[in-house]
Amino acid sequence: MYPETYTDNSLYPKQEDFEIVQDDKTGFGVITHKDFSRGDLVAAIHGEIIHDIRQHSLQIKPGVHLYDIHFSGYFLHSCAPNIRLDMKRMLVFATRKIKAGDYLLMDYAQTEDVLYKQFPCSCGSKRCRGWITGKKQAIDETDSQYQEFMLNKVVAV
Ligand SMILES: [Zn+2]
Repeated sequence: MYPETYTDNSLYPKQEDFEIVQDDKTGFGVITHKDFSRGDLVAAIHGEIIHDIRQHSLQIKPGVHLYDIHFSGYFLHSCAPNIRLDMKRMLVFATRKIKAGDYLLMDYAQTEDVLYKQFPCSCGSKRCRGWITGKKQAIDETDSQYQEFMLNKVVAV
């Protein structure tokens, strides 16, 4: 899935094992064609090292981000993720059983101090946080999407 200019690494995601899909509601996502057990290494990741936060970037450490528009940048968020990212070693691990056809789902707050954009979550998990921010980020109450989210919550009650 990565360009040939990247150094050869047999742990990089292979074209036949994963697929980037686009959904009207959730946008881009990554589906696996392979089964994984809890603890399995899913893939090694790579990309451009950048110093700003972009829509598909992942934080390596404060001020340093990975911009991978071939694979990991398209992981969708879930409050009950099935993968965990080790950004020091640039590795992705399964946190529970993953079946072929499943989306790879990470918790954005696992890696991100601050999100490119906060958003309402509809992951359906019992532990869903509802409104998703980075782990060191306060809710932006001026965000029009957040105001709409709170309004819908009130209506739902
Ligand atoms: Zn959620």
